[in-house]
Amino acid sequence: MIDKKRRQVVSAMGASVVAVPVAALVTSLPSHADSMVDPTSAQASALQYIEVSEKADAVCSGCSLYQGDAGSEAGPCPLFPGSKVAAAGWCSAFNPKA
Ligand code: SF4
Repeated sequence: MIDKKRRQVVSAMGASVVAVPVAALVTSLPSHADSMVDPTSAQASALQYIEVSEKADAVCSGCSLYQGDAGSEAGPCPLFPGSKVAAAGWCSAFNPKA
């Protein structure tokens, strides 16, 4: 009886472990990035995100994490799942494209 319950608990734990990464993937897809990042949000504040960079050579569109199309005004960034960052923006995680 105890073994059966243990198997049920272990099985349920396995299902939840699989469900979380799938949910994270779905919400990080570009099609779910509809709204712009709120610069006053906790995540944006923590990363010092600004919509217009103070340095012309350090902007989101030149960052290796930027997922917007070339020439786009905004695009997804994995650090802000579900939102778009401004192509002219910047944050402290900026990493120039190689
Ligand atoms: S990591 Fe920062 S600088 Fe790079 S695209 Fe995302 S918000 Fe912009």
